[in-house]
Amino acid sequence: MDLSFILNELGEDREQYFNAVAPPIVQSSNFAFDSVSDMRNLLLDEYKGFLYSRGNNPTVAILQKKLAALDGAEAALVFGSGAAAIFASVLSQVKQGDHIVSVRDPYSWAKRMFDVILPRFGVTTTYIDGTRIENFEAALQPDTALIYLESPNSFTYELQDIEAVAKLAKSRGIVTIIDNSYCSPIYQQPIKMGIDLSLQSATKYIGGHSDTVAGVLTGSSALISKIFASEFMNIGSGIAPFNAWLLLRGLRTLPIRLQRITESTKVLVDWLKAQSNIERVFYPLDPEFEQYELAKRQMQGGCGLITIQLKADKLEQVERFCDSLQHFLMAVSWGGHESLAFPACAAMPAEDFSADEPKHRMVRMYIGLEDPGYLIKDLEQALGKM
Ligand SMILES: *Cc1c(COP(=O)(O)O)cnc(C)c1O
Repeated sequence: MDLSFILNELGEDREQYFNAVAPPIVQSSNFAFDSVSDMRNLLLDEYKGFLYSRGNNPTVAILQKKLAALDGAEAALVFGSGAAAIFASVLSQVKQGDHIVSVRDPYSWAKRMFDVILPRFGVTTTYIDGTRIENFEAALQPDTALIYLESPNSFTYELQDIEAVAKLAKSRGIVTIIDNSYCSPIYQQPIKMGIDLSLQSATKYIGGHSDTVAGVLTGSSALISKIFASEFMNIGSGIAPFNAWLLLRGLRTLPIRLQRITESTKVLVDWLKAQSNIERVFYPLDPEFEQYELAKRQMQGGCGLITIQLKADKLEQVERFCDSLQHFLMAVSWGGHESLAFPACAAMPAEDFSADEPKHRMVRMYIGLEDPGYLIKDLEQALGKM
């Protein structure tokens, strides 16, 4: 399916709404029926139509069609956050006594689920270095029900060989879930590589304007309709129609935003690598990145997240650099129009800082839509103040 068709036409039926070019926000909690038999029909299988907006809603349905097609998947569910997509998908695939193999340091709220919530129900998790396929094989147990991936991750960008992991999992009857937030479906389509369920935080590139929190889960119709009928409806974390509409608006410009971000990021990476007070720059599509070959093979592009490792002896130097930035905002999240800085040392008590720990000197930078020269000037003055 053409990308332009997906983003501009798929799922839209303008004759249904006065030929309006922008789809309507159907702000209704419930939908009326003409007959008992019509009502019964949907009550017996709510996935099929519009009954109640905790389940399906017409504005959200347009968005779901587009997001499924972007992933090359049969079906999609849209959640009120990426964390909800993680929670529902993982919960749907495990039962008491099951075992999960996860890449180490997955997204913080996935880790919290594995470490704090699931053990209460007898589900255990083994974390592995996912850069080597042998590590997956070695960690599998007879009760392993799920392999959880995140490629690349969103701080140091370690990748997994997605096709190889999917093949291994299939041969053992194990379900695979991947967090594809870094790439978005524009740059990586894990479902096409054999992954069962792909999720992403739509807060990031899909929304693209730092004004909506949302999550996406895609997979086969069989898996998605099953998750709809249990975890999705039960958790009740579907997206509101207005937020779905904001994501539809974000989708229209997704490819050109990413194109701009990718180009600017390349310029920034090259500039950052030449700076004397920067020890190392992490970017999966930098030829010096350890897994560059794999990144080139399975990703169609690199996004705007990069991490710099500062040369610093003291916490104050890292703080001075970050505090001095004038155009990069200091904030979590990413994927919007605005460039951001997220120092790792902000996520720990100040007294725990050790210059000997490279991670403590890392600052994650998100490159937004500003002119690269404008961003370089800001970095230059801030590095000068270290
Ligand atoms: C932001 C993020 C999430 C969670 O998404 P929310 O929309 O914030 O709930 C999950 N995974 C990754 C990699 C993220 O960056």
